[in-house]
Amino acid sequence: KAKRRGRNTFQWYTDELNRKVTERVNLRHALQQAIEQKQFELHYQPQIHHSGRVAGVEALIRWHHPERGNIPPGQFISLAEDTGQIIPISEWVLETACRDAVALNATSTVPMTMAINVSPMQFQRPGFLDSLKQVLARSGLPPALLELELTEGVLMDSAEHTIQALIAIRQLGVHIALDDFGTGFSSLSYLKRLPINKLKVDRSFVNDVAVDSRDAAIVEGVVTMADKLGLEVLIEGVETAEQFHFLRTLQCDHFQGYYFARPMALSALKTYLNMPLEAVVNLGAPTSL
Ligand code: C2E
Ligand code: MG
Ligand code: MG
Ligand code: MG
Repeated sequence: KAKRRGRNTFQWYTDELNRKVTERVNLRHALQQAIEQKQFELHYQPQIHHSGRVAGVEALIRWHHPERGNIPPGQFISLAEDTGQIIPISEWVLETACRDAVALNATSTVPMTMAINVSPMQFQRPGFLDSLKQVLARSGLPPALLELELTEGVLMDSAEHTIQALIAIRQLGVHIALDDFGTGFSSLSYLKRLPINKLKVDRSFVNDVAVDSRDAAIVEGVVTMADKLGLEVLIEGVETAEQFHFLRTLQCDHFQGYYFARPMALSALKTYLNMPLEAVVNLGAPTSL
């Protein structure tokens, strides 16, 4: 009997494995079509300066599949990394985001930064710096308005060539932010070696920040450390007024999260940016900093 159960378990396991392999193959084909038929769109999520004004946006890719509907990036970015399809996708993202950034800045009275997520494979490609230069030249976007978001995984490999690549990007005038800060296993020592501009504190620390003193201590510590290192800090994933009212007592430069705005299409973003400040961010009663 035990033997049969063992076999059934094995059968279930191989079925499950087959299903996953088939799904990956299907998704890979679908991605190829998406690239060819331009099924992608960029949504933009506002990043809020502590004064309440919108300082910039983060570009987040959306895939509208004709039959399956919207497929979130969490379901295809890592596959695209594995298959190399991330390269044409990333080129499209960079091109589109820079073009949209120029359009946004043309109608904005204050400079608006554009942050884009750069995948490890994209960053490590030998031609990355050149494509960056070309896109900047073609779009006319001032390099200082472009920010590349990299994750700890990319930077952990703090080999000389990584540092050189970052220095070259900074020399263009482009900014670098460390995304999902605090979720990797990397050491803090790279913070003093790598030429980055900003830390984006991962939203996993924000959930309970107003009620869990340990999360609060971590966020507070990171903000203080970043300040002393001369880095800017952005706190991601602010969802509630309670979280925001706690967080704004810290010396944090920027915030991002559903509390302020969800990622939205370019047309909706333009409307959003035209609203008066009070309608955008409820800053509540002034807190003493
Ligand atoms: P990320 O760069 O850390 O982006 C933040 C994610 O958190 C986004 O999910 C955003 O919609 C979501 N988010 C923002 N505010 C809140 C909040 O208050 N609460 C919660 N629960 N979530 C919030 P999204 O758009 O699904 O993207 C997921 C990840 O996919 C991104 O994480 C990024 O790593 C990757 N990604 C997205 N677009 C691109 C892209 O164009 N290129 C590359 N290489 N990766 C991308
Ligand atoms: Mg990001
Ligand atoms: Mg993040
Ligand atoms: Mg993330």
